[in-house]
Amino acid sequence: MADIERYDIVIAGAGLTGAAFALAAAQAGLRVVMVDPQPFDAQLAPTFDGRSTAIAFSTFRMLDALGLGEALRPHACRMDHILVTDGRRPGAASRAASPAFLRFDAEEIGGRTGGEPLGYMVENRRIRAALAEAVTRAGIEVRAPASVAAVEVDPGKATVMLADGSRLVAPLVVGAEGRGSTVRRAAGIDTVGWGYGQSGVVATVKLGRDHGDVAHEYFLPGGPFAILPLTEQRASLVWTETTRRGEALRDASDAAFHAHLMRRFGEFLDGATVEGPRFVYPLSLSLAERLTAPRIALIGDAAHGVHPVAGQGLNMGLKDAAALAEVLAEAARLGEDIGAETVLERYARWRRFDNAALAAGFDAFVRLFSNDIAPVRLARDIGLAAVNRIGPLRRAFMHEAGGATGDLPRLLRGEAV
Ligand SMILES: Cc1cc2nc3c(=O)[nH]c(=O)nc-3n(C[C@H](O)[C@H](O)[C@H](O)COP(=O)(O)OP(=O)(O)OC[C@H]3O[C@@H](n4cnc5c(N)ncnc54)[C@H](O)[C@@H]3O)c2cc1C
Repeated sequence: MADIERYDIVIAGAGLTGAAFALAAAQAGLRVVMVDPQPFDAQLAPTFDGRSTAIAFSTFRMLDALGLGEALRPHACRMDHILVTDGRRPGAASRAASPAFLRFDAEEIGGRTGGEPLGYMVENRRIRAALAEAVTRAGIEVRAPASVAAVEVDPGKATVMLADGSRLVAPLVVGAEGRGSTVRRAAGIDTVGWGYGQSGVVATVKLGRDHGDVAHEYFLPGGPFAILPLTEQRASLVWTETTRRGEALRDASDAAFHAHLMRRFGEFLDGATVEGPRFVYPLSLSLAERLTAPRIALIGDAAHGVHPVAGQGLNMGLKDAAALAEVLAEAARLGEDIGAETVLERYARWRRFDNAALAAGFDAFVRLFSNDIAPVRLARDIGLAAVNRIGPLRRAFMHEAGGATGDLPRLLRGEAV
């Protein structure tokens, strides 16, 4: 007979969202286990994840409340300004201010955020390291490498079957395994979505000049190009290429890659040198039709994989994690069954509209800005200029990007679950 272990929650996926949720649930006194096919410390290798994440200021409060602040702060670069420009070439747009630009300044909403920046840029490897340390400190069990083979739901419990034959039993299973979620499939939850036929190319550069804590986003005809400030006068570059070109760039020699970068963005990146490997991520939209099923809840990319154009995917996932942990903590305090449909419905109601609206909004944004048809360009440039001139609208965008709108979970207000 294979071994059977009992928990309050089995979490499939020990990535950024799964690990943050595990910490939040453990903070609420729930006994959790994470399962992941990759060894937990594999995430810490410098070649594992070359991305950096724009963490909204409210999400940073959550990471602080989970005990990660001290480890992250030395590696977090303030984003005090965000400059959005619609241009054909980033270099040209940086020389003469294009009329089609939008500027966000943290000090404009400083009264509401207590002097916090619009967000922080942090390398994913730093977030992964801080999460791993906190997970270990909290004594959370991680079964890795191990993968979820199937999920069986019976009245009162769910059983997660691992590929090695062991069985984990809990009143609730959380799917946090990203876009290809096995738990989502086991629950019969469909997704809507499509590929963009493009990939995000990511590289870190040492800049030749001071970035001034400014994040730049250029809408070029081929797709968005972002230059995001990092500590030590570095920047994370993210731009879109066809998947074939992206893969060729990933595999090119250092000299060929640098030459390509200078040819495309040279005027802007004058004096920049590439640091470390480059990474290529295929871009797609994948939105789960439901967030819950009997004894199952989805969070993070398992629920909504979005285009990185607005740097919100992980922020959305961490908000899911905070909302679900809060609902479960409350249910446990009241002596309710944490996997009951009525409990999970509270989570679904809290997050479904926000997730669907943002996913649709980013998709529309990418389509609107990734083309060079003159009337479309004119219309969107008028839109950008208008938002830039209308203070309340500009401030509303900043609050939205900072994640501090709507019914905020306690963790995003910086309070414990
Ligand atoms: C180029 C790029 C830039 C981005 N920039 C930003 C940004 O600036 N800001 C932002 O908020 N977001 C950003 N994002 C989005 C963000 O990176 C993702 O939303 C986030 O990484 C999703 O994390 P996750 O833990 O939900 O899923 P994943 O990262 O996909 O993790 C899933 C985990 O589940 C595990 N797993 C897989 N299968 C199984 C199984 N069967 N059983 C158990 N475990 C399993 C995997 O090994 C992995 O550890 C960006 C994305 C891209 C591509």
